[in-house]
Amino acid sequence: MGSTDEGPTPDPSFAGETALITGTARGIGRACAVRFAERGATVVGGDRLDQSETAATCADLPGAFEPVAADVTDPAAVEALVERAADTGRVDAVVNVAGIVAREPLATHDGEPWERSVAVNLTAPFRIAREAAPHLRETGGAVVNVSSIYGQIGAAERAGYVSTKAGLEGLTRALAAELGEDGVRANAVAPGFIETPMTEPYAEDGAARERFRELAALGRLGEPSEVASVVTFLASDDASFVTGETVLVDGGRATVE
Ligand code: NAD
Repeated sequence: MGSTDEGPTPDPSFAGETALITGTARGIGRACAVRFAERGATVVGGDRLDQSETAATCADLPGAFEPVAADVTDPAAVEALVERAADTGRVDAVVNVAGIVAREPLATHDGEPWERSVAVNLTAPFRIAREAAPHLRETGGAVVNVSSIYGQIGAAERAGYVSTKAGLEGLTRALAAELGEDGVRANAVAPGFIETPMTEPYAEDGAARERFRELAALGRLGEPSEVASVVTFLASDDASFVTGETVLVDGGRATVE
């Protein structure tokens, strides 16, 4: 079906539910917060940056947005974030979006970007899923992890990013296996090039943008909302028999010639 100019049809399918989402200050995380709030969810959003723009965007939506200042690499902050979500009475979805990419050529880097990538992209989602699991078991909820096409294909000077995103997809399958009998699903999305503050360095570089455009079968870059809509699908009952899966959201970048 094509799109219309009339905007989204009201869809209160998450009314009364709570989604814990990280990385909600900007980019894909903010788009996820908005999409869940559009569907009526209460979103508890954890980020280390100011979240006033996300709060302003969500203010007029059917759901609610509760910003929590949290560095996801801090175990105490993760505990407080999960508690805050549980204080709403239930946790239906956990969406791990917060992530970093660091350039680290093997010849010059000192290991710090690697350690940071592991802490943010892999250890934090594990810790959040572990802390939230008892609450998800009560609701038969869902985990959605935001990986990357670089979880599936290699990239030079990105050892930490490629390895942690591949690890995150492994973690997703492990969670699916361990939580499945309690009706909890775990899936991942693997975006291609999405226009966010993370990819802003390429905004100035016309040749790089053109190359990324050409690599995608659809011949364009992606929007954060196009990732968020797949995340909400995976968190919803529409995906009730989908678990352990990683869905590429890359315009055909990784699979089509
Ligand atoms: P972004 O840099 O625009 O936003 C990331 C958000 O995560 C920021 O708000 C940031 O403050 C937050 N964050 C980072 N480290 C944190 C920490 N330690 N504690 C709390 N919050 C933290 O990035 P984005 O492009 O929106 O990317 C979001 C996710 O999508 C990341 O996991 C990224 O790897 C993944 N991804 C992005 C793209 C893309 O092209 N933009 C492609 C594939 C995957």
